[in-house]
Amino acid sequence: MNDLLTGGCACGAVRYRLESEPFDTGYCHCRTCQLNSGAPAMVFSSVPADDLVFTKGADRVKTFKSSSFGFRRFCGDCGTPFTMEVDHQPETVDFSVATLDDPNAVVPGFHIFWASRIGWFDPADTLPRHAKFRPDTRGLEGTDPPT
Ligand SMILES: [Zn+2]
Ligand SMILES: [Zn+2]
Repeated sequence: MNDLLTGGCACGAVRYRLESEPFDTGYCHCRTCQLNSGAPAMVFSSVPADDLVFTKGADRVKTFKSSSFGFRRFCGDCGTPFTMEVDHQPETVDFSVATLDDPNAVVPGFHIFWASRIGWFDPADTLPRHAKFRPDTRGLEGTDPPT
């Protein structure tokens, strides 16, 4: 990667930088992503946990427990969602690709939680579509969320 990717929130209070190239990029159609974003789906990509660095407004970042197995970080001033962090993948952090300054730089390669897709949202791509998690999701035995 030539340049470090940077991103931030809608109000400008929070800025971040990625210290390495993101991997495992995909759409998530789960209900939590729909509610968290107010949109039909979110696109997340992963970096090692220490490689997403808040460079401005780290004290404005808030968290909420989004499931029994994870939490999300967001801008406490404007609500823009930044990350999803889950117990079964403590070594990585998933971040919202749409919050990058150049979202075109990171391209999704799959869909997860297709089973809870909103019916009128019909992406015209040929990417793999998984009903829940991908079968090979790191740290998970199967395709069901941890209990
Ligand atoms: Zn903000
Ligand atoms: Zn989701």
